Amino acid sequence: MKSIFDNTKFGNLPVSSRIIRNGLWESQFDSQKNLTQDVYDRYEKLARNNVGLIETELISMYTHDRFSDYTHYINSPFFIKEFKEITDLVHEHGVPILAQIGFVNCNVNGKQMMEVNDLTLEDIRTIQADYVMAAKKISFAGFDGVELCVGNNFYLSRVMDPFENTRQDDYGGSTFNRVRMVLEIIKLIKKITGLHVHCKVNLYQDEEDSLEICKILAENGADSLQITRFLSPQYFRKGQNQDMLVNFADKVAREVDIPVVLGGGRSDMDKITDLINNTGIDFISMQRPFVKDPAFLTQWKMDGHGKSECKTCNNCYWKKQSVCLIESNDI
Ligand code: SF4
Repeated sequence: MKSIFDNTKFGNLPVSSRIIRNGLWESQFDSQKNLTQDVYDRYEKLARNNVGLIETELISMYTHDRFSDYTHYINSPFFIKEFKEITDLVHEHGVPILAQIGFVNCNVNGKQMMEVNDLTLEDIRTIQADYVMAAKKISFAGFDGVELCVGNNFYLSRVMDPFENTRQDDYGGSTFNRVRMVLEIIKLIKKITGLHVHCKVNLYQDEEDSLEICKILAENGADSLQITRFLSPQYFRKGQNQDMLVNFADKVAREVDIPVVLGGGRSDMDKITDLINNTGIDFISMQRPFVKDPAFLTQWKMDGHGKSECKTCNNCYWKKQSVCLIESNDI
């Protein structure tokens, strides 16, 4: 029987828990945009409290594309220095850490808000070169891997979306062609940095095509997958619900030979244990429960059961805060 706290492997990375912390926002900057001691303390607290793997908050590929003042960006002059301190802190506890990178709006080669179908080959090569440069910085900063945001509403998810990408060239049409741009990024990152490449990918409206995308990624260099979906209601694919996501992640996990992570919405230890034992899914990612209490897994491990105190009110998400805005006695 699988346990949340198994010592196991996440691809090439040894982990001591099947729970992955997915980052949200990093609001604890000082006026110079340096990370404050609170951020270092939070990462250290996460790492010493039984998390299997840490994914950072979003690190934006482009300065123009930051969600808020609080979004990290890869071209920050402090990036390598500050994150090297964080990865060192986390590694002291034997926990691997991935840098989560992505972008939403595509402004390249002097052009603004590019649509997927309008990208030229030069634009594609520029984006790919930017990813390689980002991966090099991530490697210098001591990360074990990179999480490519090719799901949710990120731009590269639109490149793979059959409804959005109707290109007639090598980067559109067949499923493989729509994934080609991401595959080339993965290949370059692995060749140049050797980092673990984790892809966060959507269940699109067409489930068969989505499954094919996952299989192509798994067979062509991705080291692990995380199943997610569009986030905002206007993009939310009609009829999708949590059960559909679980069923899809289960199908993917049974079809590919790399770890599959199910993200979002779980907070009860018993239910997670049932899930990992009754599906092919081996890892669960959690976000808001760690905002509520970065140390909750230690309590779960001691008690053998538990439920996060997060109310899933989403205030921290919408207000872009890295701390819970609800007092414990309000819950
Ligand atoms: S209770 Fe609300 S504000 Fe607090 S962590 Fe959960 S979602 Fe965020």
